Amino acid sequence: MLSDIQISRQTQITPIADIAAQMGLHPNEFRCYGTTRAKVDLTALARVAKQPRGKMVLVTAITPTPFGEGKTVTSIGLTQALHQLGKRVCACLRQPSMGPVFGIKGGAAGGGNAQIVPMEELNLHLTGDIHAVSAAHNLAAAAIDARVHHEQRLGAEEFTRQSGLAALHIDPQHIVWNRVMDHNDRALRSIRIGLGNNGPERQSSFDITAASELMAVLALSQDLADMRRRLGQLLLAFDVNGVPITAEQLGVAGAMAAILREAIEPTLMQTINGAPCLIHTGPFANIAHGNSSVIADEIALGLNDIVVTEGGFGSDMGFEKFCNIKARASGIHPDCVVLVATLKALKSHAGVAASEIHYPNIDALAQGMSNLNWHIANVKKYGLPVVVAINRFPDDTESELQWLTEQALAAGADAVELSLAFAHGADGATDLAAAVVACLQQPANFTHLYSTELGLLNSLQQLATRGYGASAIELSAQAEQQLAQIVALGADHLPICMAKTQMSVSHDPRLKGAPTDFVLPIVGLKLNAGAGFVTAFAGNIMTMPGLGVKPGYLKLDIDENGDIQGF
Ligand code: ADP
Ligand code: MG
Repeated sequence: MLSDIQISRQTQITPIADIAAQMGLHPNEFRCYGTTRAKVDLTALARVAKQPRGKMVLVTAITPTPFGEGKTVTSIGLTQALHQLGKRVCACLRQPSMGPVFGIKGGAAGGGNAQIVPMEELNLHLTGDIHAVSAAHNLAAAAIDARVHHEQRLGAEEFTRQSGLAALHIDPQHIVWNRVMDHNDRALRSIRIGLGNNGPERQSSFDITAASELMAVLALSQDLADMRRRLGQLLLAFDVNGVPITAEQLGVAGAMAAILREAIEPTLMQTINGAPCLIHTGPFANIAHGNSSVIADEIALGLNDIVVTEGGFGSDMGFEKFCNIKARASGIHPDCVVLVATLKALKSHAGVAASEIHYPNIDALAQGMSNLNWHIANVKKYGLPVVVAINRFPDDTESELQWLTEQALAAGADAVELSLAFAHGADGATDLAAAVVACLQQPANFTHLYSTELGLLNSLQQLATRGYGASAIELSAQAEQQLAQIVALGADHLPICMAKTQMSVSHDPRLKGAPTDFVLPIVGLKLNAGAGFVTAFAGNIMTMPGLGVKPGYLKLDIDENGDIQGF
C-alpha cells in the first residue's frame, strides 16, 4: 500500500472554493488560502444559526494504546462514506499539534484511504491558528512579567506617573499564567525565569499550546464578542492581597483578541473524496478538553444533515468533556456515538506484549473485553445510542472479528460494524455509515453526567464515581486550598476538565480494563475563568509532553522540489 502522503499527493483535489460552494457557503463567507484551504468568515455563523440543525455524530474509542486506535481514520472514513451515499455531511476535526506529529504518534490527518488532503498542510501549520494561540498566550505572559518588573523597579507612584496606569501590585510568587509552545519539550516543564537583572526571578513552566486556556476559549466561544469577553476574564495572577488580576485589568485582553481574530475562524479542507471538513482548535483530551470548536459545529450543523466529529482518546476523555463542558457551552449534544475498538488494543488491555499482539488470542480478547464493555456502558450513561466500529487491521482474523461483533452486541451496542476505511476509503465504511444513519432515526435522550448546581466538590465526586467507577476522591492539601479559593471567588458552579491519563479509565495507567475500587487522587485545581471550567489534576499528569528515543521527526525531510517526505 502507498504511504499516507503518497495517497494524499495522488488525490485529485477539488478547488476549495468549489467545496465551499457545494457546502452552501456564500462567496463572501470564506477566504481562500491558495486552492486547498479556506477560512470561513463568521458572517456565515450568523446566517446559518437561523437554519435547522443537522445531527451530530461523535467518534470516540475504547482506552487507547499510544499509537491511536483509528478515531480520526474512522471519522474521516465515515464522512467519506456518508458523502458517497449522497448525504449532506461535514467533518469537524481538530488541527494536529506538532507535539504528536514530531513525537511518537505522527500525523493526525487520518491515514490510508481515509484522509484530509493535502495531509502535510493539515499536519504542519495549516492557517496558523495554533501559532496564534501561542502568540496570544505568551503576550499575556510577557505582559505580566513586564508589569511586575516595572512596578518593582520604579515603585508604584513613579510607575503610575510614567505609564498613566494604576499599579497592580502583582505578587510574583502568585502568577498563575505560564507560557506555551507547540512542541514536546521536556526541558521546559520546570524553568527559572527573570535571571540576571531581568526579574523578579521566579519559578515557571511551559505547557503544550493545545493545553492553553486560550485553545479552550477559541473552542467554546459562541462568536467574536463572546471570545473577547472570555479573554477579559482570564485569571492571570493574584496581587499581594490575594485579589485576582484578570487580562482585562492588565489591559492585554484586547491585543490577545486582535492576535486571535483569524484563529477564531474554522479552516475548510476536504476529504480524499471531496467531502467538506472544518478544522478548528486543538487536541489533547487528557490535559485539555480535546474537542473541535462550537463555532465549527454550528456552521457545519447549519449547512449539513450530518456532522461527524472526534473527541480525543477514550470515551472517559474527549467524549466526557464534549458532553459535560462543550455541550453546556453550546447546547449541542451528540445524537449518536461511534465507539472505535481494535483487536490489538483489547489484547493489550489483557497484558499481551506488543510482539504477540498480531496472533489470534480469544482468551486475551475475552479479558480485554471488559474495557469495551465499560465504554459502551459509559456512552449509555449519557442517554446516547452507540455504534461500535471495529477498525480492521491487516492481521485481524475473521474468527476474532466475528467473536468481537457478537460480544459487543451482547454488551448493549446498538450496532456493531467493521470499518475498512483505512484500506478502502468510503467503500470500506458504507456499512458503518448505514448503521449510523439508522441510529440517527432514534431520538437521543441526552443527559449530562453531573449537575454543576451542587458545587465543584459534588461535581468531582460524581465524575469520579459515576463517570469513572472510582469508589471515592481524595483531595491533596493543595487541592483543598485551591477549592476553598475557587469557592471564595464564586466559581465553583463550573464544569470540570479532568487532566488525567488517557491510558486507563482511572488515574493510573497500569489499571487496565474496567478498574473498580480505586480512589481518584485530585492533586490540584485550576480555575479557567475565561474558558469556563475548572481543571482538576488527577495524579501527577504532565501538561508538557516530552520526545521519546526515536521521535517521528527523524523520518521527515523535504526533497529537491520542496515536497515534504516521510509522513
Ligand atoms: P486516533 O485518532 O484514534 O488517535 P488515528 O486515526 O490517528 O487514531 O490512527 C492512528 C494511526 O494508525 C494512524 O497512523 C493511522 O493511519 C493508523 N491506522 C488507523 N487505522 C488503521 C488501519 N485499519 N490499518 C492500518 N493503519 C491504521
Ligand atoms: Mg485522532
